[in-house]
Amino acid sequence: MTERRLLLATRNRHKLREIEGLLSGLPIRILTLDDLGLARLEGEDSVEIFNSFEENALAKARFYRQHSDLEVVADDSGLCVDALEGGPGVRSRRFAADQRLPGESEDAANNRFLLQQLRDIDASGRRAHYRCALACVGERRTLLLSGRVEGSIVREERGKEGFGYDPLFLLPGHGRTFGELPPEVKASISHRAEAIRSFRRWLEPL
Ligand code: IMP
Repeated sequence: MTERRLLLATRNRHKLREIEGLLSGLPIRILTLDDLGLARLEGEDSVEIFNSFEENALAKARFYRQHSDLEVVADDSGLCVDALEGGPGVRSRRFAADQRLPGESEDAANNRFLLQQLRDIDASGRRAHYRCALACVGERRTLLLSGRVEGSIVREERGKEGFGYDPLFLLPGHGRTFGELPPEVKASISHRAEAIRSFRRWLEPL
């Protein structure tokens, strides 16, 4: 039997690690853009132009599919905050792009900017959720799955685990942020975990 191979098309090393972990144990070889020698490609930065996670995930998977003959999996995800009417949403990664201080990481700038935006917002407006859309594009089929996890935004960063907005994202049932919870807990309840669980159910019978 030939080994099934998937290209996991993301440049985000945190997403890569999480998804590799979530797909472990399956008889599938996961390859990365680096494994295929696909350095930054022309047009890559203008692929995510849509207003929904689903459309962006599909656009990313289709873009990289043009550069490989493998089935391609892409994730588009982000944080949606009630007081920001669902923002930053699909703009999560670049939320604070204009506000970034010299030497500050993208994640640190985003978190600082988010806290600033929510400074005068009470608990109900601080309710938030993460969303993840996962697209898989192959020769004959296209699959689109999604996941979501509910939480709220705390008033200062807590914990060092995870990435992005995780130190600010509180899971009410745990009383801790994704920054404080062990990675295996995030891997069981996150938006990405939910999307990958559906993906595994689709992959397993094949
Ligand atoms: P994308 O690469 O366009 O999908 O943007 C994803 C952005 O959403 C990341 O850079 C983070 O800012 C945020 N994000 C998505 N998933 C997570 C997560 O699991 N933890 C923390 N931040 C996340």
